[in-house]
Order: sequence, then structure tokens, then C-alpha cells
Amino acid sequence: MLRAQPILTVIVPVFNEEDCIEALFARLLGLRQQLSAEADVQFLFVDDGSHDQSVPALSALADEQPFVKLIALSRNFGHQLAVTAGLDNADGDWVAVIDADLQDPPEAIADMFHRGLAGVDVVYGQRRSRRGETVFKRVSAAAFYRVISMLSDTDIPKDTGDFRVMSRRVVATLRGMRERHRFLRGMVPWTGFRSEAYLYDRDERYTGKTKYPLSKMLRFAANAIVSFSAKPLALATKFGLLMALLGALGAFYMLYLKLFSDIPVPGLTSILVTIVFFGGLQISLIGLVGEYVARIFEEAKGRPLYVISETRNL
Ligand code: UDP
Ligand code: MG
Repeated sequence: MLRAQPILTVIVPVFNEEDCIEALFARLLGLRQQLSAEADVQFLFVDDGSHDQSVPALSALADEQPFVKLIALSRNFGHQLAVTAGLDNADGDWVAVIDADLQDPPEAIADMFHRGLAGVDVVYGQRRSRRGETVFKRVSAAAFYRVISMLSDTDIPKDTGDFRVMSRRVVATLRGMRERHRFLRGMVPWTGFRSEAYLYDRDERYTGKTKYPLSKMLRFAANAIVSFSAKPLALATKFGLLMALLGALGAFYMLYLKLFSDIPVPGLTSILVTIVFFGGLQISLIGLVGEYVARIFEEAKGRPLYVISETRNL
């Protein structure tokens, strides 16, 4: 019996990308053509609560082509949850994830898919260069990857995004990981399946502005660190112990001065400075603990990760 072609589902999270859709779809069709002898390539667009004409445009495509599928979320849930909604609903033997803004070249998916067929479960795009990104973005990204790899026990390759091709068993494993604050590019390596980097040059955004302003980026980074590692808590404990030790040494020294010398023990200023310093430190460390408690609180509520308002061809 002839085995049917494997299905490759390409997940595309979309947030206010009306001006990208036409160019994006043309290139995705090129990919479908390129792989037509090897795979049935399907596209699963996940609209993350766009306010522009993205949904009508995608619905129109879905009406014309059965291999175009659409999930519209009821509001903006954020990129990571939009991709999650895609992963939960992708029925491909292989699944790819790509941004809508054409920064990642769709044609590369063909090569990545071939590497996958050769026996690799995860082929992740790794940026050889970042064109059209500000110095600030590059520096902050480099710092971020350094911090996260220091803090986390999972090896998270640097300069990767969510652009990747994964086998069905990786996706099945990810589906079982229901944490709310997610950092997919850390969760995928956590699954432990064989993975390989695919080097590529990241292009400039096709059109429009980044949907990741600084505030979202900082939240994303903090989330990644706090949800991926409990090490900041352990560091806080160690730091506290170190300070307590220094304090004890200082106390002994002053006691010594008081009992065995005529040198007066320094007064109020030093005490005040110390109190303010440690007061601030304690409050900020309580805040750090609070970050973890808040996440426990949100997980405990057990709400769905996203809400779907509309689907096409699913
Ligand atoms: N995106 C999304 N929800 C959001 C923000 C972004 O689905 O809340 C999508 C966006 O449409 C794009 C991808 O996620 O397809 C990456 O976003 P963007 O290109 O703005 O990020 P950058 O490349 O600047 O980091
Ligand atoms: Mg982008």
C-alpha cells in the first residue's frame, strides 16, 4: 500500500499584520510548491486578537483553499500563547512555526524539514545575523541569553526564536506542558529530543512595526527567567546569608572596640545607612518571592490558556 504523504503544518501567529499577509501567503505557497512531492503542506494561522483587517483577509484565504486553516483568538493573548493554540490544534506529522512578518524566510522550512526527515526531531532556526535590528535590541538579546543560560538548567541555544520545525512527538510532549507563563524556546529543548541548529540570516520586517515594544520584551524576559528557573530564589537566600555573615563580623568588631579600646564606636549615620540599605534589599527580595507566588496563584486558578472565538477549516 502506498503511504500517504506526511502532513507538514506551518503555524503562523498573527497580530495586526494585514499588510504582511499577501506577501507572506505568496511565499508560503512557494514553499508548498517546493515540497509538493514530499509533503502535504498546510497553513494554520492563529490570529492573536488583531484589530485590523487580518482576520477577514485570512478568512478569505481559508474560504478559497482547504489547506489554509484559521484560529482566531478572542483577544490578544500574546505571541507565546498564540503559538500554543496552534500547537494544540496542528494535526501535522511535522509542525513548523514561523512569524508573519517575513523576518524568517519561509523557504528555509523546506531545508529544515529535510533535516527533520533525516532523523532530527527539532530543527531550530539560529540567527547568523540580524538585519535591521537596533543596537539596543542586539545588546539586550545577547544579555538576555547570557542570563537565562546562567540561571536555567536546560540548555537554551542563543540567538534562536520560535522559528523551527518539530516532529509530532515533540508537539505531543509540548501539549502536555500546560504552564501559563511559557517560554517555548526553553520548553522545546527541555523535552530533550534530538535537535539541530539551522543557521539563517534574519531579514528585516517586511512591513509594519514590531509587535514587541520594550515593555512587552521586558515582561517576556522576566517571565522567561522566573518561569524557567527557581535559581533567583536560591541566589537571594545565599546573598542574604552572606550579608548576615558580614553583619555578624561587623557586630563582633564593634563589640571588641567597645570592650577593649578607647576608640568610639561610629554613630547614627552608619546605622541609618545600614537600615535603609537592608530595608530596601528585604523589600525587593520579598518582591522577588512575590513574583513566584503570583505565578503559583495564576496557575492555581487553572484558567484556559487562550480562548478561541472562531475557526476555519479545522
Ligand atoms: N505576535 C502575536 N501576538 C503578539 C505579538 C506578536 O501573535 O502579542 C506575532 C506577530 O504578528 C509576529 C510574531 O508574533 O508574527 C513576532 O512578532 P514581531 O515580529 O512583532 O516580533 P519581533 O520580530 O520584533 O521580535
Ligand atoms: Mg518580527
